[in-house]
Amino acid sequence: MQIRFWGVRGSCPTPLKPAEVTGKISSILQRITPEDIASPRAKERFIAQLPLHLKSTTGGNTACVEVRLEDNTLIILDCGSGLRSLYDNLVSDGDQIRDYHIFLTHFHYDHLVGMPFFTPLYDKNNRVHFYSPYGKMEKIVREYFRKPYHPVPFDAFQAQIEFNVIGRESLWLGPAKIDWVKRNHPDGSVAYRIEEGKGVFIFSTDTELEEKNFKKTRKNISFFQDADVLVMDGQYDLTEAIDKMTWGHSSYSMAVEFAQEFDIKKLMIYHHEPMNDDRQIDKYLKVARTYTEMLNKKLGKKLILDFALEEGRIEL
Ligand SMILES: [Zn+2]
Ligand SMILES: [Zn+2]
Repeated sequence: MQIRFWGVRGSCPTPLKPAEVTGKISSILQRITPEDIASPRAKERFIAQLPLHLKSTTGGNTACVEVRLEDNTLIILDCGSGLRSLYDNLVSDGDQIRDYHIFLTHFHYDHLVGMPFFTPLYDKNNRVHFYSPYGKMEKIVREYFRKPYHPVPFDAFQAQIEFNVIGRESLWLGPAKIDWVKRNHPDGSVAYRIEEGKGVFIFSTDTELEEKNFKKTRKNISFFQDADVLVMDGQYDLTEAIDKMTWGHSSYSMAVEFAQEFDIKKLMIYHHEPMNDDRQIDKYLKVARTYTEMLNKKLGKKLILDFALEEGRIEL
């Protein structure tokens, strides 16, 4: 299974501001010495040692993750603004996909905003399969295209579109078994668990962790225990999370504690706060890594932590 992040921001798209780009250039110029550009190798070394917030960016698109199964089945998790980049990449790779399996966690704008611009919907040779446990999914998605919100009505799409309301039973998609659990989030949200062969990937965006989530119930264990990769909402630091209790998001430290509790192998913090620039998110990453190492030592665990960045990939 291959995972690729096309949108990692929460709440609303967060493009880089011109002043931020200038700030990055200026900070890099202050650090550079003649030796750093003496040869192509020296240049590469110089770039490699720069902090993440200077040499790259978190990315500004909202929730969209690509999951590619071993048989090349394409699963799309949420339709945030990152969906456009996902499609652009399919085109540049010359990928001839005809079946698009789209799983929606919930219907907040940051998870739908890319949908009207998803070109495969306009091609009669495509089949677009939507999945969600919400019985009203079709009605909600259709309403999103109602005039005057979007000039093209839903019925104008040429692709064969089907809405699959998924029940409590596991759903099989080719070689993969897919399950879901409810998350604590305003208007509801669900996490998806995709299991293929020995690999388990969990997508738990828009989640405000509660005490009951940490309980080792049979349900929690069967969903989360020993997963290879957990992508989890860690929009805030702990102060913000307490300040914004009931807003539906978690702190990265709570996500770390949760991942430790269920012996997750790799945790990817997701749904980054739009108020935070790359520098701030880099700072959170450093704190989160230190905290993870401290807990690993204390509890004898081996959790690997990272932050999900746009265009980042994971293979499992
Ligand atoms: Zn969201
Ligand atoms: Zn939401």
